[in-house]
Amino acid sequence: MEKILDVNDLHVTFRTYGGTVKAVRGVSFDLHKGETLAIVGESGCGKSVTSNAVMGLVPNPPGKISNGTITFKGEELTALPEKDMRKIRGIDISMIFQDPMTALNPTLTIGTQLTEGLMEHRKTSRGKAREKALQMMNLVGIPNPEERLKQYPHQFSGGMRQRIVIAIALICEPELLIADEPTTALDVTIQAQILELFDRIQEQTGVSIVLITHDLGVVAKIADRILVMYAGKIIEEGTRKEVFYTPQHPYTRGLLKSVPRLDFKEDKLTPIDGTPPDLFSPPQGCPFTARCPMAMEVCDKVYPLQTEISKTHKVDCWLQDERAKQLLAATADNN
Ligand code: SF4
Ligand code: MG
Repeated sequence: MEKILDVNDLHVTFRTYGGTVKAVRGVSFDLHKGETLAIVGESGCGKSVTSNAVMGLVPNPPGKISNGTITFKGEELTALPEKDMRKIRGIDISMIFQDPMTALNPTLTIGTQLTEGLMEHRKTSRGKAREKALQMMNLVGIPNPEERLKQYPHQFSGGMRQRIVIAIALICEPELLIADEPTTALDVTIQAQILELFDRIQEQTGVSIVLITHDLGVVAKIADRILVMYAGKIIEEGTRKEVFYTPQHPYTRGLLKSVPRLDFKEDKLTPIDGTPPDLFSPPQGCPFTARCPMAMEVCDKVYPLQTEISKTHKVDCWLQDERAKQLLAATADNN
């Protein structure tokens, strides 16, 4: 499969009055054509900053990509000037955010908002753009598209607005769609419909999708692979099956316990106790130590080496790693 995106050792920092926040600390992953990759973690884990970096949307200052590369279809994006990035953003790489209302202009008709990108960036004629807009309305499941194109955002429900946002994001036929919490503002039934829509769109268009969410439940049906982020790092990655059926990291296991299960209604959700470490001065060892029920002596001293459970399944945790004992012995010798 063709590789669309290759992120390598990405570091992103933010300067604040309190000091420098290390928001993303050495993130590497890739994405293939037609694949759906989910990036999951609590708020502040670096998942949105990672996707913003791919879009060239890290505000500098105060933000900065301090290290690493982002390669999109062979082109290194971190070095691109903003004017070149603008030719890619929204066209070859599209993004959908949580709140569909802020993504739409309340004063323009849906038809205008759907067609303007196409006319401007792809130099499509007005007639052709309108035709394409009708197709997109059909693709995202909005009935009576002829009528609906003349209407304004407030004339649509929340779920319908998110469908329109998705149609706008896809109309220029991007190769990569980044969706940051695209269903968080919607109720559960609509959420399920939008997720099914992503699945259908991918089948029909072959677009690659990065889905950012705090809710593992959301990705259970549609992700091919899952990255779990914690304190600016990917602490576990694997196929959907690997992460859901054989999670290795105590944090991933904790996240799975807090996913509502439709089949056991009386099951209480167990959130993970405690909060992530502050990222002004991240701990040198495993950042999950303070919250981890399995923490060992080595954990807060040395960051865990990556263990390969399978070719696709990797985890940063000492539990499965024989090397932990040796390292502990070595640090004891040094002290
Ligand atoms: Fe827990 Fe240690 Fe694994 Fe970190 S490395 S998740 S503290 S067992
Ligand atoms: Mg976020």
